[in-house]
Amino acid sequence: MSPNGLTPRDKLESIAINLWWTWDPEARALFRRLNPEFFRAADNNPQAALATAKDDVLNDSAFQDAVDAVYARYRDYMERDPQVEEAPDIGYFCMEYGLHESLSLYSGGLGVLAGDHAKAASDLHLPFTAVGLFLSEGYFRQSFDANGWQEATHPVLDSAKHPLSLVLAPGGDPLTVPVHVGTRTLQVRAWKLALGHTDLYLLDTDFDANPEEYRPLTRRLYQGGDHERIRQELVLGIGGLRLLRALDVEPDVYHANEGHCAFLMLELMRERLDAGLDQAAAEQWVRDRCVFTTHTPVMAGHDHFHPDLFSEAIAGFRDQIHLSTHDLLSYGRVHPDDPDETFTMTVLGLKLSRAANGVSELNGHVARQQWQDLYPDRSLDEVPIDSITNGVHLPTWTAGPARDFLDTHIQVDLTERQDADDWARLADLSDEVLWRYRSQLRTRLVTYVEAKVQAQSLPMHPALDPDALTIGFARRFATYKRAPLIFRDRERARALFADPERPIQLLYAGKAHPDDDAGKRFIQRIYEISREPGFEGKVIFLEGYDMEIGRMLTSGCDIWLNNPRRPLEASGTSGQKVAAHGGLNLSVLDGWWPEGYTGNNGWAIGPEPTGDYGTADPEVQDEQDAASLYTQLEESVIPTFYDRNADGLPEDWIDRMRAAMAELPPAFSAKRMVLDYVNEMYRTDG
Ligand SMILES: *Cc1c(COP(=O)(O)O)cnc(C)c1O
Repeated sequence: MSPNGLTPRDKLESIAINLWWTWDPEARALFRRLNPEFFRAADNNPQAALATAKDDVLNDSAFQDAVDAVYARYRDYMERDPQVEEAPDIGYFCMEYGLHESLSLYSGGLGVLAGDHAKAASDLHLPFTAVGLFLSEGYFRQSFDANGWQEATHPVLDSAKHPLSLVLAPGGDPLTVPVHVGTRTLQVRAWKLALGHTDLYLLDTDFDANPEEYRPLTRRLYQGGDHERIRQELVLGIGGLRLLRALDVEPDVYHANEGHCAFLMLELMRERLDAGLDQAAAEQWVRDRCVFTTHTPVMAGHDHFHPDLFSEAIAGFRDQIHLSTHDLLSYGRVHPDDPDETFTMTVLGLKLSRAANGVSELNGHVARQQWQDLYPDRSLDEVPIDSITNGVHLPTWTAGPARDFLDTHIQVDLTERQDADDWARLADLSDEVLWRYRSQLRTRLVTYVEAKVQAQSLPMHPALDPDALTIGFARRFATYKRAPLIFRDRERARALFADPERPIQLLYAGKAHPDDDAGKRFIQRIYEISREPGFEGKVIFLEGYDMEIGRMLTSGCDIWLNNPRRPLEASGTSGQKVAAHGGLNLSVLDGWWPEGYTGNNGWAIGPEPTGDYGTADPEVQDEQDAASLYTQLEESVIPTFYDRNADGLPEDWIDRMRAAMAELPPAFSAKRMVLDYVNEMYRTDG
């Protein structure tokens, strides 16, 4: 018992209810030590470890000292002063949040980005409230049949086993807000998650106040048809805003991250109309307070709804807002009087916000092209869509051993503001120190993969070499990302994998959307290749891509491979996670990489991007990019890795590591990104 009366268990319990612990590697390690098997079996959930904690661990004095240190750091963090002066109050809306592998509230990059954004907002101690959906069945859990064909199951989240608290009204009953879906009035309740200083509210229709057929609305991410989707989005946008009002939260600025949540802008309109403003004044009021981010470089990828479906779904709300169906449709149409035009959420977001952005410079350019018709009086360059390039939350994505390494060599606190000069000092480290670091992280990954694949349904028999050039590819298996591109010329690829002198190994992970058979065929093809001579044991598919696998792969791989069909990768963030670990990107110049690549801090695939993006014939693009990928591997990447000096060190490789480590992490961090949002989007004088 410590002087303040808290036992080590009390302290751990109070740490476990705030997801701050997910970005503190020592907190993570403490929970694991309590009961490693149960922790791992529950997707690294601390509640599972606490429920089965071993007494000899809790009573160990060294363990208790470590708990005291982490607890003190947590208290310090929570009491830290705001790091941005006179920051506006921000309401942040997104459909999905990637926070930790124990909470499957995400499908991929958009969610992980939103989670990273909210965590960085907490690190900066911004007044920031986030809103999303309580996706009790998440996206899906991946498994495989005997032919390597992906199957989906939907384990149900048990709120009692997570730090989720039901939001209560003053009387003690669950707080609910009404949302009209079609002509029905649903009740929406909310669960709260604490992310450091940031509160995240997750909306839920799955309880007995609602008719059976409406209860599943908020259960699953991106499943069901348009009919379910528009209803889910009404709950998110309208329900989300009503919840904030019920909690007395009045943000100065509302950030709609992607179109899914843009109905919030119509609810803001309704409030102003109710308060007596006319339609034009209400629009202006809303526009003055909303900002919008688009991530979608494919026109068909923007959520859009048939006008009949829209008017059916909006019927109840229309009676509250007292606008005509035509007026409501107009907010989501480029040409309001075209009766065939669908209602597009991105158009709504653009029309009712004061500022909009894409998520990389290239993506901003593509977005201006996509939406130029909305601004007929403006030239392409004047289309009011800017860009803020995505970044990653370094405390979340920097592996424990890498945090120790950074602490030893450059003393940066990743949760505090740092500048580029701190990172630049990494360039002074010796070849030997840097190579030892790289080898340590690669070895750790190899050990992890060998154990991890034992538990999966897709059979894998890794024969990995902890000293071999290790390439990673993990992301959603959307076909534009072209996961099997490296096997386009099977024999040329086999020659690389089968070379006993200069071995390479390739680790894959990723999920295909349950309706995407082409994506599932990609995984199946990789599985088949992984059993062929030459590739066997060296091409490994890790099942169940989640944030843990993401952390392990991005920290351990030497090369992070990314070969999307340009310009379809809006930003991509997984490649940003590798840099602090001395990993190097080998990537098409798409998304963030044209801004990161300097010529000596990684490699580029494919021809220089020119004039009209995305107009190339896909077959031609695939052929050119595959040829370039082989050339880079054969002539540069593999020789550079294996060209060793008298001390056994690959000097040129380490030079590239040095450049990547010194330059990329601060430039592509979520902290930089959120500060850009504050200065360029959230502040009215921005
Ligand atoms: C980082 C991350 C992503 C995003 O990766 P992209 O490069 O943007 O495709 C998706 N899923 C998980 C689990 C991640 O960790």
